[in-house]
Amino acid sequence: MAQLLFEHIYKKYDNDTTIVKDFNLEVQDGEFIVFVGPSGCGKSTTLRMIAGLEEITDGNFYIDGQRMNDVAPKDRDIAMVFQNYALYPHMTVFENMAFGLKLRKYSKKEIEERVKHAAEILGLEEYLERKPKALSGGQRQRVALGRAIVRNAKVFLMDEPLSNLDAKLRVQMRAEISKLHHQLQTTTIYVTHDQIEAMTMASRIVVLKDGIIQQVGTPKEVYDRP
Ligand code: ADP
Ligand code: ADP
Repeated sequence: MAQLLFEHIYKKYDNDTTIVKDFNLEVQDGEFIVFVGPSGCGKSTTLRMIAGLEEITDGNFYIDGQRMNDVAPKDRDIAMVFQNYALYPHMTVFENMAFGLKLRKYSKKEIEERVKHAAEILGLEEYLERKPKALSGGQRQRVALGRAIVRNAKVFLMDEPLSNLDAKLRVQMRAEISKLHHQLQTTTIYVTHDQIEAMTMASRIVVLKDGIIQQVGTPKEVYDRP
């Protein structure tokens, strides 16, 4: 769990286009924040700044009071789930989940324990020796979640993790991710352009437009207009 603080965050590219403008937000321990807004409004860019994959042009970003602007991605204690899953096709499910831990030099025993635990949570115990191409879309998405879970990271970032799934599976995985969050209570930032995902999953919703926060509130506050 972690508390996040964004102070006057700006993102500009070389050509002086400002993608994110004066982004201010305080996220409490264990919140599930959903960024919504039309395509191109800066959701992914903001997420990538949190992960350290994009530089913050101006402003301050803190995790638990520590300024993170100049901290390398691998030192951020953040786990990220992508839309395209980003699974390694030549590796098994086990190896895919273990990869980030190996990179960080965890012991074999620790890796095995963590992967087994995540597989249990996600119902993947029977699939650990399979390659991604021998899995269904939902199972692949679970492996991507597993890679995040094994890290025991303070923060989860999810960038449209369900957008490649069919409608039925999307509804199912939505419930699974909510359940997972209920279980682990990891502070989460979830990006989507799907209002229903935002309404059903968020503790608070951040509505973005043209790189500017339009509204911040609970699903009820944002969508239950009189
Ligand atoms: P969203 O996730 O809300 O769809 P993005 O954060 O991906 O939006 O993109 C916001 C805007 O930033 C878009 O207009 C996009 O074209 C622009 N953008 C993204 N990356 C770059 C880059 N490397 N250089 C210039 N503009 C970029
Ligand atoms: P880990 O499993 O520890 O996240 P990875 O090897 O998956 O490590 O990723 C290494 C770095 O590359 C991380 O900082 C991650 O955020 C980034 N990364 C991985 N996959 C993608 C992707 N599809 N798009 C953008 N960045 C990625």
